[in-house]
This record gives sequence, structure tokens and C-alpha cells, in this order.
Amino acid sequence: MHRVQRQVEDFDEELRTLAADMTATMYAADGVGLAACQIGVDRAIFVFDCPDDQGVAHQGVVCNPVLYLPEGRDRKLDDAEEGCLSLPGAFIGCARPDYARVTGHGLTGEPVTFEGRGLLARCLQHETDHTLGTVFGDRLSSRARKKLYKQADALAVDYPPEWPAESR
Ligand code: ZN
Repeated sequence: MHRVQRQVEDFDEELRTLAADMTATMYAADGVGLAACQIGVDRAIFVFDCPDDQGVAHQGVVCNPVLYLPEGRDRKLDDAEEGCLSLPGAFIGCARPDYARVTGHGLTGEPVTFEGRGLLARCLQHETDHTLGTVFGDRLSSRARKKLYKQADALAVDYPPEWPAESR
């Protein structure tokens, strides 16, 4: 999980199948986002279906995501709880900017942009992180990270070893 993922170069049938698999896995696991590395595929792509701060759901696929975050006085941190389908059932507060915008490519190579606040901002940051080899535990204090992994270990027995890839 700690590896920068390969850029998507071929916007072909294989990519569409991958995105469809990822979307099915995300829904089966009841998640709001999923990156390819979480199902063992080395490719910079994520899918999401996530509500923003107004409760409006946004869905999409982003290949080769590039993240833009507010800086200076526009940068406000939100430390709501965060989880990850690779650490099922574990949640812990994680401070992140309350707004994010991601640009990248869609499944046919067309440019796409997604932006928003609330859980959507968190999701876009979390999933882009995955494509860059960062997991959210890396963004926590060592104390909070220990707590998170301890929680995940305690819950691991409730999930099959293939989770989330074979949770369908
Ligand atoms: Zn994750």
C-alpha cells in the first residue's frame, strides 16, 4: 500500500472492467470510495460515491488524480472520524482540509474535476492518497496510529482475509 501507483495510460476495455469491479467492491463493502491498490491492482485510479456537506451524493471515477487543497486563510481543518476499507470497522479522527478538488481523467481519457466539502472532501483526499502510496494512518500522530491499528486488529476476525476484494 506504500507505493506510488502506476499512471493509467490505456483507456481501454480492461480499465472499464477494473472500474466496474472496484465500484461493485466498494458498494459490497459499504464504502464511499475505493482505490485500485486496495484490491491489489497497481494503477492510479479510484472510484467514489460519497455525500458532500449538504448530503448530496457525488459519484465518479478518477484516473491519475491530482489534488488541490486550500492554502493560507482558506485552509480550515476538519477532524471528523475517518475509516478505510482496508482497515474495516476501524475509525479515528483525522484532521484534513474541509475542502478538496481533484482533477484527472475519466474512463475514456476525458478530463474530469470533482470538488466539495464535508465527507466528500475527506474521501477525495483519502483516495488520492492511496494512489500516491499514502494511507490515512500515515497522517495521524503515532499515538492515534497505534490506536487505529489496534482497533483494526481487534476487528479483523470479523472480516475474511480477502476483504474488501472478495466481499461480494
Ligand atoms: Zn482507504
